Amino acid sequence: MTMRPIRIIGDPVLRTPAAPVTSFDAELRALVADLMDTLLGAPGRAGVAAPQIGVSAQVFVYDADGHRGHLINPTLELGDDRQDDDEGCLSIPGLYFPTPRAMRATAHGVDQDGQPLTITGTGFLARALQHETDHLAGRLYVDTLRGETRRRALREMRSGRYAPPSR
Ligand code: ZN
Repeated sequence: MTMRPIRIIGDPVLRTPAAPVTSFDAELRALVADLMDTLLGAPGRAGVAAPQIGVSAQVFVYDADGHRGHLINPTLELGDDRQDDDEGCLSIPGLYFPTPRAMRATAHGVDQDGQPLTITGTGFLARALQHETDHLAGRLYVDTLRGETRRRALREMRSGRYAPPSR
């Protein structure tokens, strides 16, 4: 088990679009394994993206609604129906805000062997796929908030009212 420290908001790697994976080698398999160990060591979390452990590569792992796996170089197809549940992020610990997302998402990408892989989810899994794909573009869920929720999020982040990073 290799759990890796989670980068916290303010770290530039979280704001950097991740590079597409081009080498499907042992190093990539180790990265996927470390991401999964890190996710499973953070109970109640739905996913971890490589930039969150300081690696700027288009890889994430997820564990949501009984579905667990990884996806590399993803692109998203979103349905029209919306959901508005609370969302949180390991990189913004302790804070949760109602976050609009598509109710249904299909993520197309490849697995660690470079084979095509498609994941379709609704509800919580769809939310996780959108959240993690955003990470790979250098976006955080708080960026999608609007209005009063956005003002509250900015206020609470500015006051540093998230839990200190656990390292
Ligand atoms: Zn996150």
